[in-house]
Amino acid sequence: MRLRLRFDPQAPILLGTGRDLQQVRESLEVIPGSAVLGALARPLLASAGICRTHPMVPSQPVPPELQRLLSELQISPLYPVPVEALMGDATTDWQSVEVLPAPCTARTCKRHPGFADPAPGTEQGGDGVVDLWLDRTIHGTSRAHCPRDKGHRLERFRASLYRVGHKPRRYGQASLPTRSQTRVGISRPTETAAEGILFQVEPVEPRRLRQPLSNGDTPSQENSLETGFVFIGEAWLPDDLWQLLAESFGSLDSSSITAPVAIGGLLARGFGQGHLTISVTDESRASLVERLQLFGAAQEKGLPDLLLPGLLRSPWPLEEPGLSPLEEVLSSLAPPPRLQERLEPAPAASALETHPWGGWSMAWGLPKPRRQALAAGSVVTFRLKNYNPDQDHEPLIAWLAQCEERPSSRECGAGWITWFDPFHFDLGATKEGSR
Ligand SMILES: [Zn+2]
Repeated sequence: MRLRLRFDPQAPILLGTGRDLQQVRESLEVIPGSAVLGALARPLLASAGICRTHPMVPSQPVPPELQRLLSELQISPLYPVPVEALMGDATTDWQSVEVLPAPCTARTCKRHPGFADPAPGTEQGGDGVVDLWLDRTIHGTSRAHCPRDKGHRLERFRASLYRVGHKPRRYGQASLPTRSQTRVGISRPTETAAEGILFQVEPVEPRRLRQPLSNGDTPSQENSLETGFVFIGEAWLPDDLWQLLAESFGSLDSSSITAPVAIGGLLARGFGQGHLTISVTDESRASLVERLQLFGAAQEKGLPDLLLPGLLRSPWPLEEPGLSPLEEVLSSLAPPPRLQERLEPAPAASALETHPWGGWSMAWGLPKPRRQALAAGSVVTFRLKNYNPDQDHEPLIAWLAQCEERPSSRECGAGWITWFDPFHFDLGATKEGSR
């Protein structure tokens, strides 16, 4: 079953980036799915009476059902959304807000970056954002310019995005402030501040300073912060395990769980505290059918092939050195045989970025090999040759829906994909740029 996740933070959050400088610990602003799973695992194991008292004492065996829950639960990254976007109008509730990384095909003005008419919650607007996917694949042009001034240059648009509304869809950009804090190292023998050992932590601050009270007083420091951002994402769980998850958190509601959790690093200092809400959603395929129609109609009439663009919403670790990244993604998506023989990668219509994945971790104490992963925001495109809507429509929708609902990656938090993301369409360069 498909689930929606919402995290309401009550403290700064420190999410490891894997590339810390020596004395500086920076934070990601997107919560990886594996960090959410870790945050859920702690109370789940504790409620089953499993807690390790000493590293040398072997831990008790985990009950098989709980073990299955922890290994089958797949969680997408949680992207930040300003609370104003949830309250924009009465019809916008958090369940309908969509989150995505800016695709690698998105460009914005170098001088005034950002959306020209952003969704509620994004204060700073810019000259506009354009997407190159449609232009590159269908019109064969990749020249685009700033929507407001042809003299301005474009640059790659990197941001955490959210989408609200239906007709029209509006986009906004969430960017969390960081809050630098200098910490002092402790000298173990004397248990005092060690001389010369300072380190800086830079957690993201999802809260905002509250406005001064109406009587002119400023609220006290403790009460002056309120939630500025929530984090939204998705998850997948086998139907029969929902009961166990709900019961473990003492939920009486059959379709929703809210639990206090702590996410990320420096939990002992109070970071990462908040409430996680997990809600059952209906698995409607209507949106996917609509998106396929939109993109199918845009691709030139009379062409026998159909291009399938997929936006990666999470990193995608690469494991097969013998395959190209596109071939590897296609094979792990396991298309049904009758489609597979006609599917091929379309590198010219794809836009990929990679980053290192894995590596040394304090939890294992031993080095793990560093691999490459496709970065979130990469656009993978496949070509379905000789597309015949009468015969192919149904198996195609079934396969695409399966890829979207349940990630095929073996690593938690990886492998989330959206087909035909409307972003390519709504911000297509020809539409915006030629005006
Ligand atoms: Zn401009």
